[in-house]
Amino acid sequence: MFGLYAPGHDVARVAYFGLFALQHRGQESAGIATAQRGGNIMAIRDQGLVAQVFDEHKLRSLVGDMAIGHVRYSTTGSSEWENAQPIVRDDRRTLALAHNGNLINAVELHAELRGRDVPFRSTSDSEIIAALLATHPAERIEDAVADVLPRLKGAFSTVVMTEESVVAFRDPHGIRPLALGVIDDDGAGPAPYCVASESCAFDLIGARYLREVQPGEVITLTDRGVKTRLVTTERPAFCVFEHIYFARPDSRMAGTVLQVARAKMGEILWHEAPVEADLVIPVPDSGNAAARGLARASGLPQDDGFIKNRYVARTFIQPGQELRRHGLRLKFNPLPEVVSGKRLVVVDDSIVRGNTTRQIVQMLRDAGAAEVHLRISAPPIKHPCHYGIDMSTREEMIAHGRSADEVAAELGADSLHYLSLEGVYEAVGASRDTHCDACFSGDYPLEGTEDANGKYALESSLPLVHS
Ligand code: SF4
Repeated sequence: MFGLYAPGHDVARVAYFGLFALQHRGQESAGIATAQRGGNIMAIRDQGLVAQVFDEHKLRSLVGDMAIGHVRYSTTGSSEWENAQPIVRDDRRTLALAHNGNLINAVELHAELRGRDVPFRSTSDSEIIAALLATHPAERIEDAVADVLPRLKGAFSTVVMTEESVVAFRDPHGIRPLALGVIDDDGAGPAPYCVASESCAFDLIGARYLREVQPGEVITLTDRGVKTRLVTTERPAFCVFEHIYFARPDSRMAGTVLQVARAKMGEILWHEAPVEADLVIPVPDSGNAAARGLARASGLPQDDGFIKNRYVARTFIQPGQELRRHGLRLKFNPLPEVVSGKRLVVVDDSIVRGNTTRQIVQMLRDAGAAEVHLRISAPPIKHPCHYGIDMSTREEMIAHGRSADEVAAELGADSLHYLSLEGVYEAVGASRDTHCDACFSGDYPLEGTEDANGKYALESSLPLVHS
């Protein structure tokens, strides 16, 4: 998600490059909406990568003083055009909205809105937020947001744009990230402020990272600069998986560049489970940082055991088993000259279903590896995420109901060790009471999460999808 208020700037182009830096967060669809002060909202969105959806001609047609943008990945069955964002609604007010996260009370809110005859075009929970705001009687959008925010339950880092302003807000637990930045320019007009899911977007557009948007905070970007209002707060529950896997390693979260935290995870991983070995290799690119840290701590040499085709998108977030299998064959090529006859420590950042890891182990054995010792810089994933990361069901997770040794046997590895949860928090420099780690621990920070969003909760309603 990206948003900026910057009269005098080529806002669509800036949003394009902001989204380009955030492409890793979603590859199914991309969209940008722009608005002129007091004028119309325009939007272009389509399925595909940012560079596939937009060309020079389309970017030039998106003029305005402000812009918001979105890249999306979703759960099964939801890759339709209608669910691409930004969503544009024209009810009591016209607005465009982009949302990252997942509501856990979507069914109730949807029923309430349908009871008021509010029409829906998509099956996305994000349109529920858009509809609540677009139909709200408050004069100013920030007052509508302040009223609606406490009624939304779940994860929602959101940016909404009207003809007057860009408003960004984050759920009271701060589950998904959202950062505030400012573009350094000649200082003639109002300071061009921007918001993005991750700070790596600021680096690409020449903006300066200022701070995180606080949980429960509403930030309004207008001609008069930044206005902020803390609506409500709860126990912080920032997604610890962002630190481990999801966010880009050059993004800063809670003051730390993730690359550094991930290397530390590798160091701690080695101290938790050393092994007699000859060589450390990462699963590229997801295991790179942790492998470097592990190699440093162990004193073992490190090399590339695989060459990765950089033009294949990450397999984890492409929907469908069949695509995943094909994706892997396209993605990694092992180097027998490097791995043959070696006792390998193979480092990766997580295992969900295990299909990818199983094929990696097999490819290394086929290339002549003597031993394969898996070291994973995250605890075993055993529980689904209800806050916007598609983790599939418990039954599909390889660690569900299996010990580490049983998982190692399933994957064909000689040994397997997962980083402990304590190790993760030590590397991040944070504690459990400010984070969510439910996919590892099963401790969901929001009351009623599993009931509200359980397997059958949505079946009596329209299918609603993650954003
Ligand atoms: S359940 Fe896992 S992936 Fe989902 S928000 Fe919590 S830590 Fe993040």
